[in-house]
Amino acid sequence: MFVGQRGDRAHYALSLPGIERVAILDWDVHHGNGTQEAIENDPRIAFCSLHQWPHYPFTGRPHETGRHGNVLNLPVPAGTEGAAYYGLFAEKALPFLQAFRPQLLLVSAGYDALATDPLGGLQLVPADYGRLVAGCLTLGCPIALGLEGGYDPAPTAAALVATLAALPATHPPVL
Ligand SMILES: [Zn+2]
Repeated sequence: MFVGQRGDRAHYALSLPGIERVAILDWDVHHGNGTQEAIENDPRIAFCSLHQWPHYPFTGRPHETGRHGNVLNLPVPAGTEGAAYYGLFAEKALPFLQAFRPQLLLVSAGYDALATDPLGGLQLVPADYGRLVAGCLTLGCPIALGLEGGYDPAPTAAALVATLAALPATHPPVL
């Protein structure tokens, strides 16, 4: 959300032998401005953020594409429900990430896009996060999730359970 933590982890992953392409998906309701700043000039990292617009921090417009076309911003209006959100994810985010052929996917896993979240205005329900994870699995690379926003505790917990339940048993969750 604010800091370049996911960008730092992507750069660390790229320092490991054999890792040349790392993707970051940010489904927190706020634009991943810190992550974008950290990676937008690095063609080894692709970054895709779905976020409410207009909304704090008021960055993440579609024309922000990174120096190498390695950034995809998908702003959605307040009130967007899970079906439309997932549709955008499937039609825009996944093809962008697939084309990049990442060897690792880092997820900025915020849960403030849930309908009852006091800081967000989107309308996702916990089960929507299971669908997002299932979509991510089609990339065929390991996934590491980093928890971010989520300010209504019970739905956030339910959404985290849906997230983890969608991961195959053989995939060790990394939080
Ligand atoms: Zn957030």
